[in-house]
Amino acid sequence: MSEQDLKPWEKAQAARKARLESGEAVQSVRLNPIERARLKPKSKSLAIKAMCYHCVGGEQAVQTIRHCTSTTCPLYTVRPYQVGSNDDADDADDVDVVELDAQGEEA
Ligand code: SF4
Repeated sequence: MSEQDLKPWEKAQAARKARLESGEAVQSVRLNPIERARLKPKSKSLAIKAMCYHCVGGEQAVQTIRHCTSTTCPLYTVRPYQVGSNDDADDADDVDVVELDAQGEEA
C-alpha cells in the first residue's frame, strides 16, 4: 500500500510514529482552545476559537458555539464549528490534541 492510498488518519498516525521515533515529539496532550491559543499567540483563528470557548464555557462548548444566537457579536460570522466549516466534524466538546516536543512547543 502506497502512502497515497492511506486515509488521513493513517497518514497522521504514521507521521506521529515517525516524530516519536525521532524524538521530535515527546508527548500528546489535550488542550482546551485557550491553552492551544497560548501556544500560538499570533494565530487569529485560534484566538477566535479561544474567545468563543471563553464566552460559552467548557460544557458543550462546540454545540453552544455552533448554535450561538448572538448575531451582533463581532465574532459571530467567523466563529468556529459552524455547519459546513472545516471544523464542523469536530465533535470534541472542548479539546484539541496536540503533540509537544521536549521544549513544550507544538511539534
Ligand atoms: S460568536 Fe457567540 S460564542 Fe463566539 S464570542 Fe461571540 S457570542 Fe460568544
